[in-house]
Amino acid sequence: MNEAPVRTNLLGMTRPELEAFVGGFGAKPYRARQLLKWIYRRGQADFARMTDLAKDFRAALAERAQVSVPEIVSARTASDGTRKWLLRMPGAAGNDQVIETVFIPEPGRGTLCISSQIGCALDCSFCATGAQGFNRNLTAAEIIGQVWLANRELGYDPDGGRIVTNVVLMGMGEPLANYRNVLPAMQLMLDDLGYDLSRRRVTLSTSGLVPQIYRLAEDVNVALAVSLHAPNDRLRDELVPINRKHPIAELLKACWHYLERQNGRSVTFEYTMLDGVNDGPAQARELARLLRGRDAKVNLIPFNTFPGTKYHRSPADAIRRFRDLLVQGGVMATVRKTRGDDIDAACGQLRGQVLDRIQVRLGRKLVSVSVQA
Ligand code: SAH
Ligand code: SF4
Repeated sequence: MNEAPVRTNLLGMTRPELEAFVGGFGAKPYRARQLLKWIYRRGQADFARMTDLAKDFRAALAERAQVSVPEIVSARTASDGTRKWLLRMPGAAGNDQVIETVFIPEPGRGTLCISSQIGCALDCSFCATGAQGFNRNLTAAEIIGQVWLANRELGYDPDGGRIVTNVVLMGMGEPLANYRNVLPAMQLMLDDLGYDLSRRRVTLSTSGLVPQIYRLAEDVNVALAVSLHAPNDRLRDELVPINRKHPIAELLKACWHYLERQNGRSVTFEYTMLDGVNDGPAQARELARLLRGRDAKVNLIPFNTFPGTKYHRSPADAIRRFRDLLVQGGVMATVRKTRGDDIDAACGQLRGQVLDRIQVRLGRKLVSVSVQA
């Protein structure tokens, strides 16, 4: 029996990559632009239905290419309308793995929270994804494919308005640890023939991989969110272990550089509120001193619990007091509304199913990953 030829997946290819691909069999660059529009703007994966493409071009495509999107394992809707999809991904060591994508509808906007890795190797002590360990990086197709699928599942009509108006890379994984695949996926979100989202509507959240922030500053203009969670290195070393390699002063320097280089407005600092750990008045004042006078906003995230964690959510009045102290200290601060927690879709609750854990070395630390059901 002849094996079926391997067809190239066009999903995840940036405009120049697609132009080079079609050029490889003699098609003009404008064909790539047509394809981009069909795949992203119109959500079409079937070449036969791309009606304004010449028949012979469609035939040439069908022979050597495909638009292959991740497979949905299950979908759930929370009482507040938040939706969560579990997507099947072939794992690094043979077993299928599962990642999560979450859609958060709000009046006037719809935010899609996407994953960038299967699990995460950074091991932040308060994060369910970190507790899962790391399996592998997602490909650009698997990252942008989450946007493609959400649009399809949410009933996107190319002739109507956008449903997904904002994308945040705040799902499973550390996006800057998968730079090679995250960059093209973000470029497709911003491309006017792709999802055509403005730079303020695409947010990359990082736990603070400093060298990659400098690299990002050369490559792309998006909104930067940084997971700070502590006002000093002593505490941050414990909560966000990558801090031991890239301490706060270095991290902040990289953030201000990003703003300057990309002419950005401000960096959002995420700060998960952990009862009795990082939520005291002295810590609020220390944080205010760190950020005052800078183009910074603090987003306080009430801790979302998950099985096996030692942390508790700060009481609502402690969160309010913390916010007020920041504001009094001259720093803009908001409290993130918790969404979708009845389906474990809230920040830090995304676990997916990481079956085969892999040991990876990050900096000086060997992350050995725990096994759990
Ligand atoms: N790896 C990236 C992006 C994914 S996490 C990063 O760390 O920034 C998205 C946000 O949720 C981060 O700010 C993360 O610190 C926070 N988070 C993780 N676990 C959480 C939990 N259990 N409760 C609330 N927020 C959490
Ligand atoms: Fe990874 Fe972010 Fe979770 Fe830390 S908070 S373990 S970087 S996903």
